[in-house]
Amino acid sequence: MGANPINRRTLLGASTAFGAAGLLPRPAFAQGAASNVLPARGEFVVRGTHVLTMDAGLGDLPIGDVHVRNGAIVAVAASVPAPGAEVIDGRGMICMPGLIETHWHHWTNVCRPFVRNDDPKLGYFPVTAKYGPHFQPEDSYRSAKLGLAEALSAGITTTHNWCHNTRSPAHADAEIAAMHDIGIRGRYAYGPVQGGPNDRLMDLVDLARVKKSGLPADGLVTLGICSRNIGDDSNPTRGTISVEMAKKEWSAARELGVPITLHASGPQITKLLNDAGLLGPDVQFVHPTGTSADDRAILSAKGVSYSMSPIGESRRPGDAGVIQLPEMLESKVKVSLSIDHVTTYNCDLFVGMRLLYSMNLNRLQGKFKIPTRRLVELATIDGASDLGIADKVGSLTPGKRADLILLRGTDINIGPIGDPYDAIVFLAQPANVDTVVVDGRILRRKNQFTALDHAKVTQEAAATIAALRARGG
Ligand SMILES: [Zn+2]
Repeated sequence: MGANPINRRTLLGASTAFGAAGLLPRPAFAQGAASNVLPARGEFVVRGTHVLTMDAGLGDLPIGDVHVRNGAIVAVAASVPAPGAEVIDGRGMICMPGLIETHWHHWTNVCRPFVRNDDPKLGYFPVTAKYGPHFQPEDSYRSAKLGLAEALSAGITTTHNWCHNTRSPAHADAEIAAMHDIGIRGRYAYGPVQGGPNDRLMDLVDLARVKKSGLPADGLVTLGICSRNIGDDSNPTRGTISVEMAKKEWSAARELGVPITLHASGPQITKLLNDAGLLGPDVQFVHPTGTSADDRAILSAKGVSYSMSPIGESRRPGDAGVIQLPEMLESKVKVSLSIDHVTTYNCDLFVGMRLLYSMNLNRLQGKFKIPTRRLVELATIDGASDLGIADKVGSLTPGKRADLILLRGTDINIGPIGDPYDAIVFLAQPANVDTVVVDGRILRRKNQFTALDHAKVTQEAAATIAALRARGG
């Protein structure tokens, strides 16, 4: 289906990319990465830290301990005994759930050197559309890995890998392998092919194959689909399909229990899909810049979530609509935050929260109050809710999986800290993220990866960029 003459059996090695026993017959190019052994899920306790649980029942602890064992949060209290556990000194730090972003096209990460903000011919859309057809599975693997590593460094512990360039089964396996190798939590949204024909269904046979046997056994990576745009909402670079085709693709996904996402900015799309009977709580829309009050009532009633990417959306021209956070929250639409891409800005959900605060104040003159704690909810527990994993992560609740970060409150740009939520929204930056834990594994400590070879990730990304330049011109 793609332009790549890849031998599927060579890359897959076997019919299942990830065996039931958790063994990983893996893409050949990922073998080197397998030597990047992820740290074990041990037992540790963060002591004397400012705990923001983001759990309404537990609240915050100005000085408290967080005890983690075998990947799970065991206890959160003012003082936890935890004899034998490794002690992490949390004094001067904020301990909070890892940040959760809900829409990011990781396959485009390596397009960073090609995209120019000030030249429309070299903007994000034309550049990614041009190079997309030239991606081989190894390029997808390296591109995803580059952004996934950046995500961890910025305190993001869950990402929604929105892959609208799933060129072959091997490409899907490659990106899932990248997520597994990095150790991040997330959803892989299986998608169509860049530049593919609009009258061809996405590869539903392979979607079923991935659902059945293509995901790692540890449950950190789940599966979804990303739909092309639908109806008259023509998008020459990303493809547009008919409502009838959407019904086929979406019903196939639903038979597998696989959730659905699509770009849905602009008018008419909500009504169109609602009239077609397609909306439900397993649907996520992206970019809420053009909804009406009627749209929002439908989205709220149907349980459809909306992922907003404040940094990218704030750069849109005025006629593309406005960022509608207050309207969404007032209408009780589920909202989460996302990065979208990192070709012309970096991964920084702190900036995302800050922008939303400022734009709301500017546009509505403070008529709609959005407390800073509410913004931090959007970046944590509400993201988990959007992705259907709020029972596992999104708050520091005993029994949940241990996805957490430590923010150093003594850094020059943020300390001394007054209100912790104000500090996170107005002052924090990725450089303040001292420690990152996913599923109980300490993946970063003192701003360094504990296992990942950072230099290798950027070197391999550079090699792919050179190859894409040679292939794509
Ligand atoms: Zn997007």
